[in-house]
Amino acid sequence: MCGIVGIVDAGGVSIQLYYALYALQHRGQESAGISTFDGTNLCKFKGQGLVADVFSPPVLKDLKGTAGIGHVRYPTTGANLPENIQPLNFQFKDHFISIAHNGNLVNTCELRDEYEKAGQIFITTTDTEIIAKILIDEIDESGCVEDAVRHCMRRMQGSYSVVIMIDGIIYAFRDPLGIKPFCLGKLDQGYIVASESVAVDALGGRVLRDVKPGELIQMDADGVRCTQIAVAGKRAHCIFEYIYFARADAVMDGVLVYDVRRTIGKKLFEEDPVSADSVCSVPDSGTAYAIGYAERSKIPFVESLMKNRYMGRTFIMPTQKERERAVRIKLNPIPAHLKDKSVVLVDDSIVRGTTSKRIIEMMRDAGAREVHMRIGSPAIKAPCYLGVDMPTRKELIASDKIQDEVRHSITATSLHHISLDALVEAIGFSRDDLCTGCLTGCYPLPITGETADPRQVNFIDGTYQSKLESFESRAS
Ligand code: SF4
Repeated sequence: MCGIVGIVDAGGVSIQLYYALYALQHRGQESAGISTFDGTNLCKFKGQGLVADVFSPPVLKDLKGTAGIGHVRYPTTGANLPENIQPLNFQFKDHFISIAHNGNLVNTCELRDEYEKAGQIFITTTDTEIIAKILIDEIDESGCVEDAVRHCMRRMQGSYSVVIMIDGIIYAFRDPLGIKPFCLGKLDQGYIVASESVAVDALGGRVLRDVKPGELIQMDADGVRCTQIAVAGKRAHCIFEYIYFARADAVMDGVLVYDVRRTIGKKLFEEDPVSADSVCSVPDSGTAYAIGYAERSKIPFVESLMKNRYMGRTFIMPTQKERERAVRIKLNPIPAHLKDKSVVLVDDSIVRGTTSKRIIEMMRDAGAREVHMRIGSPAIKAPCYLGVDMPTRKELIASDKIQDEVRHSITATSLHHISLDALVEAIGFSRDDLCTGCLTGCYPLPITGETADPRQVNFIDGTYQSKLESFESRAS
């Protein structure tokens, strides 16, 4: 899970990239980086930590140019090493190249092996460098970025939304199944591609549409051009983006995430009604669900857990010990709202169960009589191989337990997970167009040792299909 952004803007890009990354901070907190092209050279800066900690005004001032890309990272492939911080930057012949990637390739080992046998060396342990190698090799061969992206899509198995800048021209492409989100927006004097629409909103821009699965978008001083490289029979949008990862105010593939979560909250009540004194959420990710639950049940929504807003997300903190310590610092129960009360506690998901158990214990210590847990996702049964740092089956509490065993383990009075059918209905796509791998154990592409329902991908000879707009026409 990472956040990426690419911007071309006649007025300069460094500040805009900074604010776009700020808006995408929830997608990765380990490191951040920006590369820009000043017309002659790459200007680059990256470091470990949050966006606000990595970049200072003097640093941003030095990131000159009218095109640039940025990245916030949470590691899925590749260790927590400085060399793995993105964007990765290369010089090849006379070309300056910078690349950032959200997703995860499942055939990294085979591809890396192949390149190493051919004598190539790697400077990072990320799959992003492999994408860069495939692209650069093919561009060297054919001289055509479009062909190189087509070649990439043929070779790479997995999820990938990629932004690459070559000599100040930005190319963005999304895997043919559309697993990771990616959208295109218009700014006052330029264009933006970003993992989520919230980055476009943060810059006062207008979201034009999502980058289509299998599409290549080119952005430069002449405007935006789009080429459909590949089309899959069925898509596989990550269902967990709607449940947890994306910001509630993001619009992804035409769907407002907040509305999905609120609808799920309503369905949670319909599926398993309970009478209680109040509904409360695990803030912030459970809030839209809890509001929906309260609306449908007519049970008042009362904030009973207060969040320290200066903490990161516990789920994406890398170690168990850090996550456990973080829960108590992050959430504080309000005894006056809990004493002798029966409470419906709504959250987005249960992963390991340790956080849920800790929260319920804190609520009981604060006086709650009953805690009925309601969860906006079905039970997580299997790991993710496609870009989310989901634990192994052994660590997932529901992988080998039925619902009542999970309830007992987290000490809830009652427990209900939303059904997969209700979740799919709330999102509004066909179930066949969603990846549900971590919920069902069946993945949308072949993964060694796992069950799969692989999507058929057809490649098309692309010519530029549409030229959205030129800078000249925008100016007039
Ligand atoms: S396995 Fe789960 S988390 Fe991973 S891409 Fe599929 S739906 Fe998303």
